[in-house]
Amino acid sequence: MNEFNYFIPTRILFGAGKLNELATVSLPGRKALVVISAGKSMRTNGYLERVLSLLEANGVKAVVFDRILSNPVLSHVTEGAALARDEQCDFVLGLGGGSAIDSAKSIALMAQNPGNYWDYIQAGTGKRRSVPNKALPVVAVTTTAGTGTEADPWTVITNEETHEKIGFGNADTFPALSIVDPELMLSVPPLFTAYQGFDALFHAAEGYISNAATPVSNLFALKSVELVTAGLPAAVRDGNNLEARTQVALANTLSGMVESLSSTTSQHAMEHALSALHPDLPHGAGLIMLSEAYFSFFADKIPHLLDDLARAMGEDTNRRQGGKHAFVDALLKLQRDCNVDHLKMSGYGICRDEIPALAQNAYDTMGKLFERDRYDLSFDETVTIIQNAYR
Ligand SMILES: [Zn+2]
Repeated sequence: MNEFNYFIPTRILFGAGKLNELATVSLPGRKALVVISAGKSMRTNGYLERVLSLLEANGVKAVVFDRILSNPVLSHVTEGAALARDEQCDFVLGLGGGSAIDSAKSIALMAQNPGNYWDYIQAGTGKRRSVPNKALPVVAVTTTAGTGTEADPWTVITNEETHEKIGFGNADTFPALSIVDPELMLSVPPLFTAYQGFDALFHAAEGYISNAATPVSNLFALKSVELVTAGLPAAVRDGNNLEARTQVALANTLSGMVESLSSTTSQHAMEHALSALHPDLPHGAGLIMLSEAYFSFFADKIPHLLDDLARAMGEDTNRRQGGKHAFVDALLKLQRDCNVDHLKMSGYGICRDEIPALAQNAYDTMGKLFERDRYDLSFDETVTIIQNAYR
């Protein structure tokens, strides 16, 4: 445990009002492809206009690509990369949540590389080729606090034809620059604030229990869990609470660092299967649905690690006897405090019958994450966890 590699080559500008520095910070080129979601919020909140005028003040021209879905898809990566090439963009700026920024990373990769993005995917039906060329530089301006993508190299894209939702990343897909300005997060509605905050919590918690954890990732992970617990209920109750938003934003950036230095575990593989086959299911909501069953299963396998997480959530682990593990209790309490304790898979059209197929999809697409668990789950145990989570 006293040995680790540390690599996070991203300049991060963090804090309320930091977006204004986009006008003066050194940028990796003179022409940007700005990637945003197909939804209206980047325009109605004025964020797109602000980013375009700050870029202009910095002497950067911009072309906008605005097709990204909340579970981003392969065909839009192909389309965005063609636009970046045609317009001879020097870098790709992702503005929005994880879907816009992840898409920006994949587009930046494909703007510089031949063939199809799925040629370079290392799992499922991906062709597992190595990437010949460096990606275009990526700039991330995040307007949500959930995926941590501003501080990690990961991008998760769904192949809409094969129903596979697979992560990818290399040293080039770390953003060169990330701006994390909690003022941009004030407009996120309560339910999505909760989903995204729980995603950040699970990146930290899974990164902590993962066998890839390091002394540095653990510092970030425990702090992130503490900050989500402290800030998320207030951010859900009152979206304009800038202090709570800042706590959750910091938790999220720290969680991104955890994802860079450690790894998520099989809970994330299971969730990718749920939302790959049911794209209307938000990633964070899927994780919340799985979490009680998942961490309860691991409670007697890694009790001390879960004790540490429970203490980071303010639980007194010395005074407990019987019942659920303290971490599971704390998780359920946080879900109640954030009004997300009633989520049901059946509410998103998931049937009990498809659970074995969901488990199989998790192994086929994100099987590597099962290798990060400290206990080797059998296929049947994976099915059991999803069954226990089902309602
Ligand atoms: Zn996640």
